[in-house]
Amino acid sequence: MLLAGIDIGGTKMEVSLFEVADSVNNKEFDLHTSTKHYEAKKVLSRRTPTDRHLGYEKVSGNLVQLIRETVESADASLNDLRSIGIGLPGIIDPQTSMMKNGNTGIFIDQDLMGTLKKGLESDIEINIANDANCFALAEAVAGAGVKYQEETGIPIADHIGVGVIVGTGCGGGIIRGGQMLVGRNGTTGEIGHSTLVTNGHTCYCGRRGCAEQYVSGVGIESAYASRIYTQIAERPNARKIFEMAEEQEPLAKAIVKEFKSNLAFFIANLTNILDANYFVLGGGVSLQPEVYKGLADIIRRDTYKPDYSPAVYQNVLGDSAGGIGAAMLSLTK
Ligand SMILES: [Zn+2]
Repeated sequence: MLLAGIDIGGTKMEVSLFEVADSVNNKEFDLHTSTKHYEAKKVLSRRTPTDRHLGYEKVSGNLVQLIRETVESADASLNDLRSIGIGLPGIIDPQTSMMKNGNTGIFIDQDLMGTLKKGLESDIEINIANDANCFALAEAVAGAGVKYQEETGIPIADHIGVGVIVGTGCGGGIIRGGQMLVGRNGTTGEIGHSTLVTNGHTCYCGRRGCAEQYVSGVGIESAYASRIYTQIAERPNARKIFEMAEEQEPLAKAIVKEFKSNLAFFIANLTNILDANYFVLGGGVSLQPEVYKGLADIIRRDTYKPDYSPAVYQNVLGDSAGGIGAAMLSLTK
């Protein structure tokens, strides 16, 4: 079956078409009765800048156009699509599917679903979810969750999986038995705004010591910059700091060590709350192999169940995860 998944961010919008099959017999999939999983093959994708400054009307019009172009490029029509799923960077109201906050403000309180149906002149099923939740969902049913299932024999239906995006910021999603937990207000999985350090750094959300201030690329960068007492031409980014740590630069080494300890503490907290089977990391920082070295041992020290450490995986689906998760919203409700 053909599904469309749309990943909308502050800088770009990407429409992807996926051919999705059940791993066993290509029939309608039931997460709850088997160890089957999804395989999502990208047919093609098209992207365009979000151009937020143009405003909602223009941007949503561009999106309609992009969906049409993408479907046409695949020699398909809208009728060939089972559904369209959209990942948006903000809290999505579970009742209205409207975005309630986020840095891409033009979508806030807009009926994107209605706008697209009107623009596409179609009554196709459209689902909208938070982008980090989409990442977690994709990895749970077609990525890291499949790996965990293979390694342990525990079926996806019995998993609690947590997606943690350690990118510029820190976001997350919680998936239980292949289904996204959204919560009453759509904020389940906003783990980046749980307190990691009491009276810590001020966060843009208004609180202090949020995990996002420490478990993120920006957190790593500002920790480094705040401890340099000489003039530097330019602040090193997180990737550079990992590189310098590998080259044994003492400050970078210390920052990376501290980051890992924060990440481990964060994951241990979440483990004590959720008792998850596994965590899957996404975002730029997740690409650093150093992040995973010895991490399980540090987590183990802080979990309530003696000597327990959940699996922590690097994401399997890469940049496509957001789009795949969005596409799969219609299959996993
Ligand atoms: Zn915060």
